[in-house]
Amino acid sequence: MARYTGPDCRLCRREGCKLFLKGDRCYSDKCAMERRAYAPGDAGKKRVKESEYRQQLREKQKTKRIYGLLEKQFRHYYDLANRAQGITGENLLRILESRLDNVVYRLGFAKSRAEARQQVRHGHIQVNGRRVDIPSFRVRPGDLVAVAPKARDMLVIKSALISNERTSVPAWLEVDIEKLQGSVLSLPQRDQIDSDIREQLIVELYSK
Ligand code: SF4
Repeated sequence: MARYTGPDCRLCRREGCKLFLKGDRCYSDKCAMERRAYAPGDAGKKRVKESEYRQQLREKQKTKRIYGLLEKQFRHYYDLANRAQGITGENLLRILESRLDNVVYRLGFAKSRAEARQQVRHGHIQVNGRRVDIPSFRVRPGDLVAVAPKARDMLVIKSALISNERTSVPAWLEVDIEKLQGSVLSLPQRDQIDSDIREQLIVELYSK
């Protein structure tokens, strides 16, 4: 599958905001957005005309990049959200949040969604006692997400738990640090998703 292999920080600079793609570095003064908060490339510092279309496009790109998705999968999620009952933009965010890699990240078992995705792919995560190695697996209320017994002593997970002490677990999840497991209490409401995303702009873009 095609995927972006360039520098993560370049994506933040393109979107003009922190996307928190690199774990600890994002909270340090090494963050590229602290040092060079302008778009990459020769024209990076030039003023750009803010059209309505540009705002919608950038919001969609930003959201894709936060969750580490490519266009095809993101569009698929939009179609699902559009068909579901309720507000399309909120449905979309709920689908994105319920991905297993995002849940592992939100529970604090990984420093970034990319790291969480790798843990899932490598078989270090279980859902309801069974190994699940598909990052796009969608959790449901009542699911129990746990670090597999063999992976409990992994440094990368211990280090994520220490580093994620500064961020709180969202109210729709409940974590048990001792047991390295977390429960999905419900799917998130919009006010329980702290990502700085204007989802209505994405809906407007795809509705054209
Ligand atoms: Fe973005 Fe993190 Fe890089 Fe800062 S360190 S630019 S937040 S990926």
